[in-house]
Amino acid sequence: MISVIVPCYNEQESLPLLYQEVTRVLTGIGKPYELLFVNDGSTDETLPILRRLAAEDGAVRYLSFSRNFGKESAMYAGFRHAQGDYVAVMDADLQHPPALLPRMLELLEGGEYDSVAARRVDRAGEPPIRSFFARMFYRLLNRISDVELVDGAMDYRLMRREMVEAIVSMGEYNRFSKGIFGWVGFRTCWLECENAERAAGRTKWSFWKLFKYAIDGIINFSGAPLAIASWGGILMTFLAFFLLVFIVVRKLAFGDPVAGWASTVCIVIFIGGIQLFCLGIMGQYIARTYMETKRRPHYIIAETEQTRRDRG
Ligand code: UDP
Ligand code: MG
Repeated sequence: MISVIVPCYNEQESLPLLYQEVTRVLTGIGKPYELLFVNDGSTDETLPILRRLAAEDGAVRYLSFSRNFGKESAMYAGFRHAQGDYVAVMDADLQHPPALLPRMLELLEGGEYDSVAARRVDRAGEPPIRSFFARMFYRLLNRISDVELVDGAMDYRLMRREMVEAIVSMGEYNRFSKGIFGWVGFRTCWLECENAERAAGRTKWSFWKLFKYAIDGIINFSGAPLAIASWGGILMTFLAFFLLVFIVVRKLAFGDPVAGWASTVCIVIFIGGIQLFCLGIMGQYIARTYMETKRRPHYIIAETEQTRRDRG
């Protein structure tokens, strides 16, 4: 069986389009399938639409969260509840063409790969500065962490059961899927894919949200920022030592008229700034450790097609 997981957050316009398209493609494949929608606390008509689809079509299932938990949690819930031997995850906005599914399935069934993922060939239609930061991010994270991230990788892939189990077994609270997909390993085949426009609605990712997501990625998969703090500290200590020697020698040689308080203040502020910055880095790691130790659930399900049926 094939499971297709679709996280949805306020996708009332695209959902009917997506449902039609995916159903057409999956019936074309001719294997049993389930369409698992995860409603991530939408405030529009998404949930009623899902209820209707599930009532009309036995292949449609849905999980509805009690509030917005974020796309990462929605994907995680989908992975935990999917029952297929092959599991796909795709966006609700048709930016991930369902027409690619048969090709992905074919590649998996060839037995050579455990997962097939899509990556975009270019970043056309994206603001240039966003592309710039995205490139920088991939370069940086690939250098400082031991996971391999592929630039332009989309969260659109089809995986074997084994890989899904591996992903589910990574129960961390702060999830960064692109890193998790890379970390679990397995043989992945990359399919090139055009960058498509959203079918309807608008993106939920502002630049600021993406920026925070990138920081998450770095902190979750690398300890390098902590090393920056300690190396910076060592460097400053050496620098201070040499300056001290310089000043003592100058005092002995030339005497010392009182001067230079302005530069002293600058240096004090500079060092204070660096110290705060390094404390902040540590704080980021500690805050995440704190969240992990609480072991809160990743999401809370308020309703599924099952509970709704049982209630009548
Ligand atoms: N999404 C979600 N929860 C969120 C934000 C987004 O489940 O808090 C879903 C959204 O419905 C869509 C997918 O994640 O199916 C990708 O979102 P979007 O298209 O806004 O991101 P983009 O394609 O612009 O990166
Ligand atoms: Mg999108």
